[in-house]
Amino acid sequence: MQTTNTPAAYLCVAKHEMLEANAAFRGNVLELHMAYLTTNPATGNVEREFATITDAQLAAILDASEDCFRTDWSMRSIEDRAAAIHRAAAIIRDEQEALAAIMSRDMGKLVGQAIGELQLSAAILDYYADTAAVFLAPRPLPDAPGATLHAQPLGILLAVEPWNFPFFQLARVVGPQLMVGNVVIAKHASNVPQCALAFESVMRRAGVPAGAYSNIFATTDQVGIVIDDPRVRGVTLTGSEKAGATVAERAARNLKKSVLELGGSDALIVLEDAPFEATVMNAMVGKMNNAGQSCVATKRMIVVGEERGKQFLEAMTAAMASLEAGDPLDPATTLAPVSSEGALQGVLRQIEAARAGGATVTLGGSRIERAGSYLEPTILTNVKPDNPVYRQEIFGPVLTFHVVPDEASAIALANDVPFGLGGSVFTADLKRGERVALSIESGMAFVNGPTWSTPQMPFGGVKNSGYGRELSQLGFGEFVNWKLVAIAPPGSLPPGADAAG
Ligand code: NAP
Repeated sequence: MQTTNTPAAYLCVAKHEMLEANAAFRGNVLELHMAYLTTNPATGNVEREFATITDAQLAAILDASEDCFRTDWSMRSIEDRAAAIHRAAAIIRDEQEALAAIMSRDMGKLVGQAIGELQLSAAILDYYADTAAVFLAPRPLPDAPGATLHAQPLGILLAVEPWNFPFFQLARVVGPQLMVGNVVIAKHASNVPQCALAFESVMRRAGVPAGAYSNIFATTDQVGIVIDDPRVRGVTLTGSEKAGATVAERAARNLKKSVLELGGSDALIVLEDAPFEATVMNAMVGKMNNAGQSCVATKRMIVVGEERGKQFLEAMTAAMASLEAGDPLDPATTLAPVSSEGALQGVLRQIEAARAGGATVTLGGSRIERAGSYLEPTILTNVKPDNPVYRQEIFGPVLTFHVVPDEASAIALANDVPFGLGGSVFTADLKRGERVALSIESGMAFVNGPTWSTPQMPFGGVKNSGYGRELSQLGFGEFVNWKLVAIAPPGSLPPGADAAG
C-alpha cells in the first residue's frame, strides 16, 4: 500500500498493519479479516472501524434468511411487500440530508450529488413497488393453450456491491428482488460501512424483517461460504472485472446464476454538427459526476474534425480547470476527493504510465496538495493504441481526449476497448445519432446525453463489462423462476396419443 506523509494516512496504514498482525496471531487463520473502515477521503482520517462477522454469525444470518424466505417474505402479498418498500423510499427522502452526510464521509461524494443519488434510490424503490404487480402477473402463452408462466422467487440472493454509489447500488438490487419475493444478503464495499448500516436501518424501520434484508461485514472467504451454501440461489456483483470473475466462477461451480455489472471505458463521440455549448456541458456531467468514479463515466472523448477537436479540447480544459477542491459537505465545493488514498495512488500510477507511454498530460496530472485524496482534473491527449492505458478503465477525474478524421474512425476507436458498458454520441442529426449509437458495442448508448440511469431503463453491459441487467422490467426478471404450469382438461389423453388409442 502506498503511503502519504499525512498523519491520518499513517494512522490508516497502522490500523491495517495491526489488523494483519492480529489475524496472523489468531492462530494462523487462513484468511485475513479485512477491515470495514470509514476513512474520510476529504481528510484521510479513520473515523469508524467495524469488525467483520464471525462464521457463527454468518451461519445464523443464513438460517434466518432461509427461514424468513420460506415462512414470511415470499408468502406475503405483493401489496404487503410494496408497502414496506414504499416506506423505505419515504424514509430515504425524509432523511436525505443525514444520509448524504454519511455517504460523503464514507467515500467523499459531493453533498449535492449524494442527495441526487438518494432521490434516485428512493425513486427506484417506489418504481418497483408500483410496477411489481404488472411485472409479476401470470403470463398465459397464447400459442400453447392451457399453458401459463407464473413468477416465483428463487430464495436467498447474495449482492456484492461497490462503494461508488453506495445507496443506488443497493436500491437497484433490493427494490426488485424484495418485490419478487426473494430475500437479500448484501456484502457492501469495506470502505462504506456506515452507508451499509444506514441502508439496513432504513429497511428495518420500513418493516422489512431481518431475514429479508441483511447486511454482512464479510471477508472474501465468507463471501465464498455464502455462495457455496445450497440455500443461496443466485449472486449479483457490481465491481471490478477481477472480483466479478472470482465470484462468477464460484457461482458457476455451484451451478448458480450470476449477474455481473463491471467496469467501463465509455466513449463520448462528438460528430461535426454537435451543438457546442450543450455538448461541453453534457461531457462535463458525464466525466465529472462522482469525481469521475462511475462505471459509466465519460472516460474517452472522441471529436470528429481537427478544428472542432481544438475547440472542444480548449473548452473541456477550461471547464475542468475551473473546478474547486474543497469539503464535499460544503455545497459550494465542485471537486470532490477520490474515494481513498489507495484509489488516488492507483490513478496517479496510470497517469504516469500513460505519460511514459507517450501521452501528453494537457491538464492536471498531480495530487492536490491538501489533506485528503484529491486529484487535479486531468486530460490526457496523444493516447495511442500501444499506450498501456489506451484500453484500461481510469476510475477518477481523468479524461482521455482523441481527435479523429471521420465518423467511422470515431466508432472504431470507441469500440477498441475490452469494455462495452455505455456510450454517447452528440449530433444535430438524430437519425445519424441513432445509427452511430447502434454501432457502439455496449449495453447502453445515448444520443445527445451522457450515459445515465433511471429506474425505467435497463442498466448493464456486454464484453468485459459483464452480463445481465439491473433496473427496468429486464432487471426485475433476472432472479425469477418463470415457472410453466400447463393445464389440460380432465380425462385428456397423453401427448401423441389420439382418441382411437
Ligand atoms: P471491487 O474491488 O471489485 O469491489 C466491489 C465489491 O466486490 C466490494 O464489495 C468488494 O469488497 C468486493 N470484492 C472484491 N474482491 C472480491 C472477491 N475476490 N470476492 C468477493 N468479493 C470481492 O471494485 P472497486 O474497484 O471498488 O469498484 C469500482 C469498479 O466497479 C469499477 O471497475 C467500476 O467501473 C465498477 N462498477 C460497475 C458498475 C456497473 O453497474 N457496471 C457500477 C459501479 C461500479 P471489498 O470492498 O471488501 O474489497
